[in-house]
Amino acid sequence: MTRPYLLASTDSEPVKRFYDVIVIGSGIAGLTAAVGAARKWKVALISKSVLRDTTTFLAQGGIAAALSDQDSPQLHFEDTIRAGAGLCKEEAVRILVNEGPARVRELMEICPKFDRAGGDLVLASEGAHTVPRIVHAGGDATGSEVASALTEAMQQGSRVQVLEHEFVIDLLTNGGHCIGAVSLNLKTGVFTLNYATVTVLATGGCGQVYTMTTNPVVATGDGMAMAFRAGATIGDMEFVQFHPTGLYSGNSPLFLITEALRGEGAYLLNHAGERFMVGVHPQAELGPRDVVVKEMVRQMQAENQEYLLLDATHLDCGMLKERFPTVHDTLLNRGYNLCHERIPVTPVCHYMMGGVVTDLWGRTTLPGLYASGEVANTGVHGANRLASNSLLEGLVFSDRIVRDLDRYISSREESARRLSILLPGPSRQGNQADGVASGRKKLQQIMTSDVGMVRSEDGLMNAVRELGLLLGSLRAPRADLEEYELFNLITVATHIAKAALLREESRGAHQRDDHPETDDINWKRHIDFRLKG
Ligand SMILES: Cc1cc2nc3c(=O)[nH]c(=O)nc-3n(C[C@H](O)[C@H](O)[C@H](O)COP(=O)(O)OP(=O)(O)OC[C@H]3O[C@@H](n4cnc5c(N)ncnc54)[C@H](O)[C@@H]3O)c2cc1C
Repeated sequence: MTRPYLLASTDSEPVKRFYDVIVIGSGIAGLTAAVGAARKWKVALISKSVLRDTTTFLAQGGIAAALSDQDSPQLHFEDTIRAGAGLCKEEAVRILVNEGPARVRELMEICPKFDRAGGDLVLASEGAHTVPRIVHAGGDATGSEVASALTEAMQQGSRVQVLEHEFVIDLLTNGGHCIGAVSLNLKTGVFTLNYATVTVLATGGCGQVYTMTTNPVVATGDGMAMAFRAGATIGDMEFVQFHPTGLYSGNSPLFLITEALRGEGAYLLNHAGERFMVGVHPQAELGPRDVVVKEMVRQMQAENQEYLLLDATHLDCGMLKERFPTVHDTLLNRGYNLCHERIPVTPVCHYMMGGVVTDLWGRTTLPGLYASGEVANTGVHGANRLASNSLLEGLVFSDRIVRDLDRYISSREESARRLSILLPGPSRQGNQADGVASGRKKLQQIMTSDVGMVRSEDGLMNAVRELGLLLGSLRAPRADLEEYELFNLITVATHIAKAALLREESRGAHQRDDHPETDDINWKRHIDFRLKG
């Protein structure tokens, strides 16, 4: 076995478990895949934390789908393509918008809390959507409502074996196929070889590579890094979306203030009290996220300020409380009254457009390994994701994975039970805990200062060099969560920086001040990475 495993095995023999399908991750992508696969197959769902500790749980705004008479999949397609700045894969977008409405209706059957008025769905407006098309649940609690409903569906009949606090370290490969994953139980310290005919990566994003992010602490890019180590292709890593309205504060994760608030009419103001987006984009505050963020950065630099202001004081207070209970109450707890005062906001790292490259059925370039949700790069987001398309992507592509399982599983004759995997020997030294913590901080500082919203060749070269030095300063990990996560963060961060350095143009979420123009002739293409050999 020549491939690079991150695992440092223990002296004791690992436990072995056997499944048809393992799903790694308990967000919308993982839960949807597990519920669907368990109708026919023996399934395990593995999560490194508790089930609800996901980005999905935090989602506020809702899910985009063409569900009204005023809307159509074609309109949704056009909005998605326009926001994606020339890099969306059109076939994948067609699937997203055409299959999306049916998937959302199915979700509504198990999650009755989608907001309605007089029996009709309430549809919200968000950035770069030309018509209101965002369905939401519990006002601005869509993620928690949807995650709870899917979790309940998964637990009915107990057909899925749920493994919480189980950290997946690496994928297992044999003969060019993925045959499962090795995990460490964070409570007991026991290693397990989870053999499976199919492995579904649904490990979410990597916002923790930046100092300030809306992403939860579990978002350390593990799935992207382990897929890369196992030989799968990752791509579009330079496209990291910054959200315009994180609540300005010193603590990451930053609280997100949903775009739907601007959809209801809230303004963005500079410190002179001007609506600076008017005249910059025809949809003003509701322009695509990359356009709004770029102008926010310009305004903050011009005013020498670290934040701008979100103003909802002209809107009806009753509506704000009813439609945005989470935002309203959280702000109140933090000392801000949304009804009566302007809220300090700053652009913040929010979403990874790139990831593990898949085809239209969620298949990665490594047979036996599928990917769905934020970890995946299906091609639907291009250089800039259209708001509320990511929950939809998880629903649509996990469903397609489930539909492809029969084909893949019946094509595999070899039983994983007969395979033996050689893992690397134990590492006795590892890294000191404070060294790991300061390594993570250092990585976040490098990424924030040199690979942030506006990039340049000098900064990016410095980032690649510094990240290399950081990696070189570390010893092989022991069996420790923070160490494993740091190695994964370095892998992901290095590929973000390398891709950003290669792409000598500005497009969507990737902005270079030394190459401010979009260059379709040379750069209307994707940057992929794959491990040599
Ligand atoms: C604050 C906020 C609000 C948002 N609002 C919206 C919105 O309104 N609409 C929208 O469409 N999108 C929204 N997004 C984006 C969207 O929520 C995410 O892209 C989406 O939920 C990702 O789902 P997922 O299933 O891919 O991953 P996640 O929900 O992040 O789940 C990842 C899972 O993988 C597990 N995991 C990770 N690594 C490992 C490992 N090594 N071993 C075992 N388990 C592992 C985690 O524990 C977790 O269970 C929002 C994002 C944020 C941060």
